[in-house]
Amino acid sequence: MSRTHHTDPDPRFPFPHTSSPTRCRTRPELFDLGLGDLSGATKKAAQERLEQARRACSACPVVTACLRWALVNETTENVFASTTPTQRRVLRRRLADRLGPDWVDVLAARDQARRERAKAARHTPLPVPQARIVHLDRELNGPLRPLLRLTAEEQCLNRSRLEAGLKAA
Ligand code: SF4
Repeated sequence: MSRTHHTDPDPRFPFPHTSSPTRCRTRPELFDLGLGDLSGATKKAAQERLEQARRACSACPVVTACLRWALVNETTENVFASTTPTQRRVLRRRLADRLGPDWVDVLAARDQARRERAKAARHTPLPVPQARIVHLDRELNGPLRPLLRLTAEEQCLNRSRLEAGLKAA
């Protein structure tokens, strides 16, 4: 599928990566608005394709990042993140009204600030009560087993052990 946009891609907003191919890669024809006339004789088939593309996008794990990419990069064709080019033009105007004419820079600065906050949070020690709970939990239950889904009974048991441990501490 062609990803037409007016300007060079903005490196601050790369197209989102997924571990498995998205529907727009496996069925690009669904997303191609150039294939049918939404107002003419083939209207029904074209509308049905558009609906299928929209449904695929709503279940897509990268829909939010895809929409940002499509807005920032001024894509002028095809469906991206459930939106048509006309809808994206409206969204761009709204963003410009809300954030000003340099809304792309504003979004990029917000993203950068968010990444910095997340990085700082990873290096901030836990507050004392939380650290105490984590420590007690490790003592009582051993290290966390990765990706383990606890049953309701196990969760209950863990909770009562933890509460008993906290009372005793
Ligand atoms: S949200 Fe974007 S990446 Fe996901 S299927 Fe739709 S167009 Fe493709």
